[in-house]
Amino acid sequence: MGPRLPVGSYLTPIAPAWLAAMGILRLQNGPSAGILDGVMDPSTTSPLTLETPVQYLKGVGPARAEALAELGVRTAGELLEYYPRDWVFMPEPIAIARMQAGQKVSLMGLIESTDYHPHRRKPVFEIMLADETGYCRVLWFHGGYLVNQLEPGRHIVVHGTVSRYKHMLQLTNPRFIILEGPRADAAETFSGPVYPASGKLPSWRIKAILRANIDALTPLVPELYAPAFLNKNQLIPRPEAFAKIHNPADDKQLAAAKRRLKYDELFLMQTGLALKRYHLRHTTPAPQIKIDEQIDRRIRRRFPFLLTADQNQVIAEICGDLAKTIPMNRLLQGDVGSGKTVVALHAALSAVANKLQVAIMAPTEILARQHYDSIERFLKGSRVRRELITGGITGKKREQLLGRVRDGEVDIVVGTVALLQRDIDFADLGLVIIDEQHKFGVHQRATLRKGRNPHCLVMTATPIPRTLAMTVFGDLDVSTIRHCPPGRGEVVTRWAQPHHRDTAMEFMRQRLRAGRQAYFVYPRIDAELDSDNGDLKAAVEEYRRLKERVFVEFRVGLLHGQMTAEEKRRTMEAFRSGHLSVLVSTVVIEVGVDVPNATMMVIENANRFGLAQLHQLRGRIGRGQDKSYCFLFAETEDADAVSRLDVMTRSRDGFEIAEHDLRLRGPGELFSTRQHGLPDLKLANIIDDFDLLNLARRDAFALIAADPTLSRADCAAIRSELIARFGESLGLVDVG
Ligand code: ADP
Ligand code: MG
Repeated sequence: MGPRLPVGSYLTPIAPAWLAAMGILRLQNGPSAGILDGVMDPSTTSPLTLETPVQYLKGVGPARAEALAELGVRTAGELLEYYPRDWVFMPEPIAIARMQAGQKVSLMGLIESTDYHPHRRKPVFEIMLADETGYCRVLWFHGGYLVNQLEPGRHIVVHGTVSRYKHMLQLTNPRFIILEGPRADAAETFSGPVYPASGKLPSWRIKAILRANIDALTPLVPELYAPAFLNKNQLIPRPEAFAKIHNPADDKQLAAAKRRLKYDELFLMQTGLALKRYHLRHTTPAPQIKIDEQIDRRIRRRFPFLLTADQNQVIAEICGDLAKTIPMNRLLQGDVGSGKTVVALHAALSAVANKLQVAIMAPTEILARQHYDSIERFLKGSRVRRELITGGITGKKREQLLGRVRDGEVDIVVGTVALLQRDIDFADLGLVIIDEQHKFGVHQRATLRKGRNPHCLVMTATPIPRTLAMTVFGDLDVSTIRHCPPGRGEVVTRWAQPHHRDTAMEFMRQRLRAGRQAYFVYPRIDAELDSDNGDLKAAVEEYRRLKERVFVEFRVGLLHGQMTAEEKRRTMEAFRSGHLSVLVSTVVIEVGVDVPNATMMVIENANRFGLAQLHQLRGRIGRGQDKSYCFLFAETEDADAVSRLDVMTRSRDGFEIAEHDLRLRGPGELFSTRQHGLPDLKLANIIDDFDLLNLARRDAFALIAADPTLSRADCAAIRSELIARFGESLGLVDVG
């Protein structure tokens, strides 16, 4: 541990509340003079810990503690992990009159006026910056967040490249630092870390608080690894990394600090995943499911087609898992229609051949029924006993059915996740198959386990990029079906402009006449709900327009989320049977619609949809052998929207699209680690830091392989850090 500071230097008021928060009052029966003496006595061990409330740190106090709490910072440790959003190494400011186009400069001055234009195509926030020599226009695109920070009368330093616009020199999207007052001579005040600030707590104040406390706090940070390990991975010590991330002398120090702290975040996350995986594999064993060639052949005879190479590969992976007593924990991913159900059925029939029961769970009753129907198609005439459990089956009938499941008289039970998680007893459950459809989510997995651990196969139609598979799903094995079975028609996708509309409608009319069907998809139900987006097509309004004016000779139907389940079902049935030619809908058709004769889709305001959603929607067409057409109507110049539309017209590969999506939106938006029981990543980013993630993953899994309970003495720090981050979910607490 580093130097110990005299207590008085960081302990200001000693309030009973603080003592209680520190656990000191609770230690004894009532306040004890001896304990208070110890706190006051600078010669005893310093009570400052990483759990100390920030209020008692230097330069904080109750008001600032409250402001910090609003930023999510309550303890000294959380303050250390309140990382700067940026670091500025600015040159000395120059006079505004001296700047030249193309030059990289710092300018220091007063904000004379500000202006925000939120309604421009690219919203822009601009200020007029003044010093003794002149004025400079400074603007930030998408700068709405600056309105409350950069107010007139404030002094700031900006740093950026000078450009020329209509004979005026200006700075666009510069970095900036808000100063405490007009004179800031020392470079110190306008260089260094920039913190995510709030109205009550500007960045420079947070910086000052950290400066005042950092020397006392960093020695409290435990090192996690042995020196040799640090050396091998070229990592600087953890306490030093905290000191440097808040106060780097240069880019090099900053990079070293970032690398170390990012590594730790990734390592702890991966260790958590490795532990989860270890525990799952070494708790209750699963029944072995073995099949020989004869059984395999018998199962395959049920399918009226040859399985694809991808399907065979995945079946081999699953069979390998099932043959072991370690419970399978496998994610099967593949686009809609890629043939996952067939693979799952192969696994199910393997279990049945081993006299074990199978539960197949879907997110909704419609999808459960769809699974059941397709299973029926393949199993016609077979002796496999299968049942669909729905909410509609009640009373005596239900009791009887559950009784048969309990007695082992049913082999395959299909139902919704909710139905099957209720207390349904199985005689001998060997395999659980969960269709997650369009969600990521491993959440439901563990709950069905009873007595013996069944094997578990999770299916998802959401393509998961490799980077995500390694993090969110890091404790799962992943199998992938990349290529759809042969015989799928081509899908032509076009980004259409308003002037293409008449041609497109005429094109569709001809195909509708030939008996084809079409989807029209709109982002919203009702125009009025969305008044600030007046241009947004509303499904209801457009339904009327299409029905009464555009496609008068055809039957047009409407489907949206506010209809009752029965109305939806009837409308879907009318479209499925071909009674309706055109189906106008909101995004509700995303899930569970399969009409091979529907070969056309129009998506209005396509720029408003995310990539994953566009891909999912388009997956509704191109399901038969005929060529399909997808028209994306969108008027936009937004760079992200343009690249989304561009990707859609170029690719039909779900994985390629998912990678683009991840890149465009960033992992933060695509998934929240916390949602999956993982601690949030503050510094690391699973895309940009992919190499570091790989390194951390290797190290983490090697560590757990060597010391699965982390009980070695040199793992103590890692262990307590993990418990602090993951809580008890890793089972570490009981193991120790
Ligand atoms: P998913 O569950 O991935 O959406 P399905 O298993 O339901 O896909 O398969 C989609 C369609 O393709 C079904 O009609 C299925 O019978 C058919 N299919 C599956 N595998 C093959 C194959 N190897 N050859 C031809 N058709 C197949
Ligand atoms: Mg399916």
